[in-house]
Amino acid sequence: MDEPKHSPRPETIAAAYGVASDTAFGAVAPPLYLSSTYEFAGFENPRAYDYGRAGNPTRDLLGRALAKLEGGAGAVVTSSGMAALDLIASQLPAGACVIAPHDCYGGTMRLLKAREALGQLSLHLVDQRDDDAVAAALAGTPALLLIETPSNPLLRVVDIAALSARAKAAGAAVAVDNTFLSPALQQPIALGADYVIHSTTKYLNGHSDVIGGAVVVADAERLERVAQWANVVGCGGSPFDAWLTLRGLRTLFARMRGQQISAMTIAEMLSRHPAVAAVHYPGLASHPDHALAARQQSGFGAMLSFELAGGVEAVKRLIAALRVFTFAESLGGVESLIVHPATMTHADMGDEARALAGIGPGLLRVSVGLEAEADLLDDLAAGLATC
Ligand code: PLP
Repeated sequence: MDEPKHSPRPETIAAAYGVASDTAFGAVAPPLYLSSTYEFAGFENPRAYDYGRAGNPTRDLLGRALAKLEGGAGAVVTSSGMAALDLIASQLPAGACVIAPHDCYGGTMRLLKAREALGQLSLHLVDQRDDDAVAAALAGTPALLLIETPSNPLLRVVDIAALSARAKAAGAAVAVDNTFLSPALQQPIALGADYVIHSTTKYLNGHSDVIGGAVVVADAERLERVAQWANVVGCGGSPFDAWLTLRGLRTLFARMRGQQISAMTIAEMLSRHPAVAAVHYPGLASHPDHALAARQQSGFGAMLSFELAGGVEAVKRLIAALRVFTFAESLGGVESLIVHPATMTHADMGDEARALAGIGPGLLRVSVGLEAEADLLDDLAAGLATC
């Protein structure tokens, strides 16, 4: 099913893109091509591939599947989510103005701040829910607006279509980090994005055994530039990682469906618990961005965060008591993970930026997996009883 004649639905693309496309032996599962180099057919006569940094059949198959799912012209598969972001950032002209969320993933902020410290770009961190702050930042002739929605770790939701339209009017390209929802639940290109960034480490692979990333590009002209630059800097993902990610992608929709059902139940349970001061999950009617999330997303996802009334001491007790949730960074796998953003994923942001973003010492972020929902609820209830 590499290039089918009908237009398959997204679930079919995820489950079957590239299946039974092997011309050599009719293999149903797409083969893994590890070769770093390719024999030329003759003098000045390369075949479809010549060298693995420039292109690889397994990596390109994953890229085409992701591009189909996101509705882009194509995709470049990178060695990590950060490499995907840097692929865009490193192509900007010197001194380019970049607008990014004040509450984005800590690694994203670290990367952009590091490039700013080298004098390569000028960074404007703004609360993208604040229209005036966005207008002020857009007045500075920006080259790129980076959106992350829902945000990591506070699950704030911003309006991709509205922000994209404003950024375009100001002459900026728009990149959306779609890691938290994946194309199963949100398609930023249809809402005006020029680039979609993924940490494929998370939901797309879904099994916590690959570090990878991707840039999906809306139009062919930009795609050519991004693909060329990926070859210049050599940031492409490994073929084996691409093969594993393609295998993980097969079950993306089924995983997302199951995981977000449990996430909703857990969010409801947490919001009733006396030890919990606040729950951040866009699926709750009480979430300030619930209506926007319901309109913009086709599901609320399986990420949530919550604040313990007892602060960091309660956090320590809860973490020590949990048996089913694993205390570890990352997200989007079939196993449930819990993380303390202030000391882990967002530690490098620094105290001031964390306070501005609203990431406090009592905040925990949860990635809900595919275990029995009752086990997850029991585990949290037992842990919360110690807080
Ligand atoms: N974007 C978001 C929203 C993330 O949560 C992460 C990692 O946690 C990244 C990007 C970076 O991805 P990677 O760890 O694959 O480099």
